[in-house]
Amino acid sequence: MTESNAPRKAEKLMAVKGMNDILPPESARWEALEERVRALMRRYAYENIRTPIVEPTALFVRGLGEVTDIVEKEMYSFEDRLNGEQLTLRPENTAGVVRAVVEHTLLYNGGKRLYYFGPMFRHERPQRGRYRQFHQVGAEALGFGGPELDAELILMADALWKELGIGGVELQINSLGQPAERNLHRAALIAHFEAHADVLDPESRRRLHLNPLRLLDSKNPDMQAVIESAPKLMDFLGEASKAHLAAVLAILDANQVPYSMNPRLVRGMDYYNLTVFEFVTTQLGSQGTICGGGRYDYLVEQIGGKPTPAVGWAMGIERVLELLKAQEDRLTLPQLDAYAVVPDASALPQVAACLQRLRSVGVAVQMHASGEAGMASMKNQFKRADASGARYALVFGPDELAQGCVTVKALRDPTAAQRTLALDLWPDWAGSLQSVP
Ligand code: ATP
Ligand code: MG
Repeated sequence: MTESNAPRKAEKLMAVKGMNDILPPESARWEALEERVRALMRRYAYENIRTPIVEPTALFVRGLGEVTDIVEKEMYSFEDRLNGEQLTLRPENTAGVVRAVVEHTLLYNGGKRLYYFGPMFRHERPQRGRYRQFHQVGAEALGFGGPELDAELILMADALWKELGIGGVELQINSLGQPAERNLHRAALIAHFEAHADVLDPESRRRLHLNPLRLLDSKNPDMQAVIESAPKLMDFLGEASKAHLAAVLAILDANQVPYSMNPRLVRGMDYYNLTVFEFVTTQLGSQGTICGGGRYDYLVEQIGGKPTPAVGWAMGIERVLELLKAQEDRLTLPQLDAYAVVPDASALPQVAACLQRLRSVGVAVQMHASGEAGMASMKNQFKRADASGARYALVFGPDELAQGCVTVKALRDPTAAQRTLALDLWPDWAGSLQSVP
């Protein structure tokens, strides 16, 4: 056989850089967190919404603002090869939710509280807590202008930290006011940065007249002093904006939720006004923001709907899970109740029927799977049972089956006695196998 005829081993294909496989057992932590979040959303009456991962590019350009990090350099955009449409993998989902709400006139009889869960895509430099495919859970309340909604969303996130046992998270708040107030501030901001043009990096100099607020978001260490001394939006707020902020803070105070005012907090998208907030930790290095949000009363209009106030937040799942790992991880993972040990393949139909009955009432049970050589030895099967994490082994040996019975052995509790139970009386004992009845 010549070299060219030899079967060549196919080259291994790898996942795209910055996009991760989430594998067991880590995926069980994801599921556990997702379940907690869904239960939380139910308690606050937020309904689930699922929108496409691909949206028209124009949605994000118009929604997030042209002069933002996301739109300028982080979007996965492409042309549909078949019809030439400009499309983008969603970098965030507030714009998508708003599009769906407008498209389906979801607000025809009042406001809506919605939440989503899913992957987002940003072309960033991958590092701990920063990936190119990452996941967010987000909550959006549309059609409500009152400060109690801003507070409700903050309280909801705070409740999640408490429930998960996450500590050391700081809530930072700012108000971006209304467009007219922002314009006054904008002029002062431009004058300030023009006076310090020598310390601005080229990107900031380019953005200065396009979107000066973005300069406040810069992470360039050489610019921090000039950012620190910049005019504060807070000083340009009118009475109504101040009252809105005070009302949000009063609700937080009444709930003993601590916060600190951060006059430089502007967030990465242009759609915000009035309240903006972030939950920040120092335990994740420079990727310290685990949740961010705010009010966006002008976005619905910008996306073609009727003027509609709205407020929401998005939480980074990877960062929350990472933080949980750094602290005491209190996510309770589902347990396998039982492992079925089946020494003889001829018993499989009868065993499978029994296991189906047990599962129908909620028992989690794994059946031993045969290899090519048939069923493994009892010893080997017990080894597997042990490694599975199950609390019980169900032994379907020939002696047991001859008597219509199964032997139940506790795998984790050496003091527990072995039981032999009648198969046809399964409704009486199935519940005793369950860790979560
Ligand atoms: P950062 O300042 O860290 O880049 P951001 O302001 O761009 O965050 P948002 O757009 O507000 O982030 O998204 C909300 C949350 O989603 C963030 O607080 C963070 O927890 C998470 N997040 C954002 N980008 C990423 C990413 N590339 N990888 C992992 N999580 C992310
Ligand atoms: Mg970012």
